[in-house]
Amino acid sequence: MRQRYLIALGSNVRHPRHGGPPSVLRAAALALEAAGLAVLAVAPVIASAPLGPSRRRYANGAAVVDSALPPRALLALLQGIEHDFGRVRRGQRWGARTLDLDLVLWSGGHWQDKALSVPHPAFRTRAFVVCPAARIAPGWRDPATGLALKHLAARLTRRASPPRAAPRRAP
Ligand code: ADP
Ligand code: MG
Repeated sequence: MRQRYLIALGSNVRHPRHGGPPSVLRAAALALEAAGLAVLAVAPVIASAPLGPSRRRYANGAAVVDSALPPRALLALLQGIEHDFGRVRRGQRWGARTLDLDLVLWSGGHWQDKALSVPHPAFRTRAFVVCPAARIAPGWRDPATGLALKHLAARLTRRASPPRAAPRRAP
């Protein structure tokens, strides 16, 4: 059976051959296709501030892919691509990484086991995941909250804007 997946792409380390983080993400989208996934849409790459201990800026993106693979097999494939891009897992989360590929949403709804949680547990609060994703799949609903990506994105960007002036009291 065909499955549809939303994948988040991130990079904050230069690759010796592909170049800086935005170029790493463009190469990664091609690598998804080369690995046999049907890439249906790729979001424009955005730049975002570093998360956690790393001080390098990130490039973030998103892709919608179609595949016959079940979630765990897709995760293994994504980790193989991360490895091909030279990512070394040293146990530190949020550290420098050439390529991070996370499985954010799946057409089957929820998946939960020792190695994989779908939807990705933290994605709703991360504008760098939700905003690129909303560009290519605005109507895709998060099964946990029932909110479409465009609504999650609006919520996050609203919160980031300056507070409105307090309402004036009637004289
Ligand atoms: P992060 O992406 O959170 O910064 P890693 O890429 O190093 O960190 O992933 C750590 C572990 O998270 C992986 O070994 C993987 O098994 C697990 N994981 C759980 N859920 C997901 C998901 N939805 N997408 C990707 N990895 C996941
Ligand atoms: Mg990851």
